[in-house]
Order: sequence, then C-alpha cells, then structure tokens
Amino acid sequence: MSEQKRALYNLDRAELQTLLASWGEPTFRADQVWEWLYRHLVTDFEAMHNLPRALRARLAAHFTIEGARPRAERSSSDGYTRKWLLELADGEHVEAVLMEYERRRTACISVQVGCAFACAFCATGQMGLIRNLSAGEIVAQVLHIEREVRALEKTSGERALTNIVFMGMGEPLSNYANVLKAVRILNDEAGFRMGARRMTLSTVGLVPAIRRLAHEPLQVNLAISLHAPTDELRTSLVPINAQYPIRELMKAVRYYLEHTGRRVTFEYAMIAGVNDDESLAEALAQLLSGLLVHVNLIPLNPVPGSPWQGSDRRQVEAFAAVLRRHRLPVTVRVRRGIDIAAGCGQLYAPTGRQGRRIVPVRERTGTYVASRTTG
Ligand code: SAH
Repeated sequence: MSEQKRALYNLDRAELQTLLASWGEPTFRADQVWEWLYRHLVTDFEAMHNLPRALRARLAAHFTIEGARPRAERSSSDGYTRKWLLELADGEHVEAVLMEYERRRTACISVQVGCAFACAFCATGQMGLIRNLSAGEIVAQVLHIEREVRALEKTSGERALTNIVFMGMGEPLSNYANVLKAVRILNDEAGFRMGARRMTLSTVGLVPAIRRLAHEPLQVNLAISLHAPTDELRTSLVPINAQYPIRELMKAVRYYLEHTGRRVTFEYAMIAGVNDDESLAEALAQLLSGLLVHVNLIPLNPVPGSPWQGSDRRQVEAFAAVLRRHRLPVTVRVRRGIDIAAGCGQLYAPTGRQGRRIVPVRERTGTYVASRTTG
C-alpha cells in the first residue's frame, strides 16, 4: 500500500456523505457508516455488517478508524478518576481523563501535544507546543474513554459519557478549527449526540478567538482561565496576558455574552499567598459584577518544579465568601485524581522534542503587538 491511509474520524458527516457519493454509493450508506462509528463505536470495518463487502474493503483500503492507542492507564485511589496515556499515529502522546460524579461522567480531553502558553503553574506549559491535534485525534480520545466505560458497564447502545471538557493538554482556541470540528462531530444528532451545552472549551484568554466563537452556531460553553484580577499579577501567572490584557479580555467576554446570552465561567486557580487574598476577591468581584458569569475556584494542584502550594480550605472559603457577598455564583472545583497527576494543570506526556513557546512582546509605547515564537 503506497498511499497513506486517512483517519476516518477526521471527516464530519457531510464530508463522509460527499466521499461516499463520489464512490457512487447511495446516500443512506453514509448514515450507516456514521452509526457504526459513533453509535456502536466499532474500530473494524469488518464489523459494519450491513455494508456490502466491497465497500468495507474499499473503506479499509483508504481509511483507518483508530486514532489514539492506550499506552498506560492509571486509576485514582479516590475510585472516581482514570487517566490514559494515548499514543497518536506519529508516536506523540497525550493524556485524557475520566471523572465520575454522582450524576455526571465527564471526559477531560487534550487538544494539542504540549502547549505554547507557558502558564507558570501548569505542567503542560513546561512542554512547549509540539503540535496541534487533528479533529479526529480529539474525537478518538472521547471514543476511547466511552468504550472503556461501556466495557465496564457491559452496555453497548447508550452513550455513557454525559459531559466533555476541553481542559486537558493544550489551548483549545489556538487549535480553533480542529477543536470546533471535533465538537460538531461529537454533537451530531445521528451519531454520538453529545449536547453542545454539555461540552466546555476552556481558554487562556485568546481575545480574537473569543470574539469569533461568539458567532458559532453551537451552544458550547466557554470558560476563561483568569487566575488574577490585575494585569501585573495575571501576566506573572499567565504570560499571554501581556498581549491580551484584562481590559481587552473583558471586552471580548462582554461581546461574547451579548451575542450568545450564555453564561461564561471564570476559572481561578488559588495559589497560597500569591492570588488568594480577600482584597483580590474584591477586585475580582468588581471586574465581574453585573455580568452573566460563574466563578470556579480551583485550589492549585501540585506540579513538579513549581514552588507554589494550593490555598488551604479556609482561605478558599474566605475568598468565595467575598464573591458571594457580591452575588457572584461561585463553586469550588472538586479535587480529583491528584495522586495520579490527573488534576487540572497536571497533564504531561513525555516527548523527545522541544516545543515552541509564544512569548508576548510589549512595545515601549505601551501598545501590545503580535507574539513571537521561540524554541
Ligand atoms: N489552555 C486551556 C485549558 C487548560 S487546563 C486554558 O488555559 O484554559 C484547564 C484549567 O486548569 C485552566 O484554567 C488552567 O489554568 C488550570 N490549571 C493549570 N494548572 C493548574 C494547576 N496546577 N492547578 C489548578 N489548575 C490549573
């Protein structure tokens, strides 16, 4: 076989329809294949019983189905969290996590190998960006976890996952087209049927992409990694803030709110003695007051090489109390899977390569200019 096979998970339903039509197949064939892929989750063309043998062979000659091979798996002692190291076709790896709650089963999915944004407290940021994932590689992680859950529960038809968060390795809005395509594929009503409202994109705060997302005809949720209410502090934690400072970020959020009417979540990793003072909670409340938002406090998870500690419970509660006094809805994120490094900011996959970093540059005039890339 000289031609390189393509990953079938990279095609959305319309593309699959176009392909099969170009092969002279009747229109219902695409729906059949789609159901095998996204309802029955088969990984072998031979299992697609209702397709003619010749079509199965033709598909197998041009496409592969698997896009993420499990290389290691760990289960948390809390009994509710599992993490997989998944290998991609080119030998790079990503991590993906399953979190079980009383009424939810959430998959946390990676969108890039590494990440370019180098947030000071995040393990993935230490890798630099190796590459974007394709839509199919993003979809494949979800389907891998779904299969694992179904295998354990011995169910075959019904979807087991209830939510997907794009909060694993990488920055969803810097791999915009592939992430949105994956969302559309997973949302498709003839296939996996994950409600868009049950999927959340978390961003480091890429202003142009937030504005673009405001116009997507998809009800997907948006979470903003804020972590500090002032520019000086935020830039020290989230370097891209030098390029997209809080004022610009909040303008984009207001724009998003106006166009979508959907509540935006603000994530705030709480670092003892760094950003957890009640005066900062006051500043945060001022920043968010009157907006349709929700604040999610995340006591910092430990990351190798970082000197910081998560805020203790009392400080988290005191911080939350200030926000509540200002009538801001607040939740504290449940800490899960820390013993297997499956918590927020702990995902990391060994790679032999040095990733690229985006270094925001601020000109002497005080205006912010386009980023430079190093590494
Ligand atoms: N690139 C996206 C997704 C990142 S992970 C983003 O920046 O939003 C999801 C969340 O975990 C982000 O809010 C991120 O800032 C946060 N996070 C990173 N490292 C963390 C750590 N060590 N402890 C707690 N939260 C962390």
